[in-house]
Amino acid sequence: MLNVLLVERGARADDAIPVASWPFCLVYLHTQRCACGGNWHALTHSLHGRLECHRAICEGCKTERDFWFDLSLVVDDPNGFARFEELRGLFTEGLDYIESGEAFRAIPLLSEVAAREPWFGLAWLHLGIAQMLGEQHLEARPSLEQAVGLLPMDSTAHDGLGDCYLALGLNHRAAREFEMAVRLRERVEDS
Ligand SMILES: [Zn+2]
Repeated sequence: MLNVLLVERGARADDAIPVASWPFCLVYLHTQRCACGGNWHALTHSLHGRLECHRAICEGCKTERDFWFDLSLVVDDPNGFARFEELRGLFTEGLDYIESGEAFRAIPLLSEVAAREPWFGLAWLHLGIAQMLGEQHLEARPSLEQAVGLLPMDSTAHDGLGDCYLALGLNHRAAREFEMAVRLRERVEDS
């Protein structure tokens, strides 16, 4: 049932995830969760022109799947790795500001991370969390909807979006997200 409702991206060559820095492929892979709640472990990878395919196995249920990435933006770019280090620096600084209760300082940093690597679900999730902490509920909605789209199996993303819908008075939508979060957590506990 969960699988029918939640769309996992990047499973096929014609749905490859665009990456804008090295080694974002592995960040994407390691931030996704299997339907059982398990973590993905990268096995092998192969190049297909400008596409890269990573074969991964779930550490929980041992299911295997492919993750396809489109490297067009970075393949000929010698600065791709430096850009990733910059991205990591901005992201870490943003999380530190959330931690120290300075959401207003985290928001511009995490917005920058999400703009640079739009498929980075955790960037959208923490941006949404910072916006919620800063009482920017309207702004948080698209951030958290994006986070749920990119991290469909992550219960924290569904909980965050549920909190946002609740703050906006969208109680039905909120209940659906909370229910999804509970079901995702039950899967983890069952496995
Ligand atoms: Zn699994």
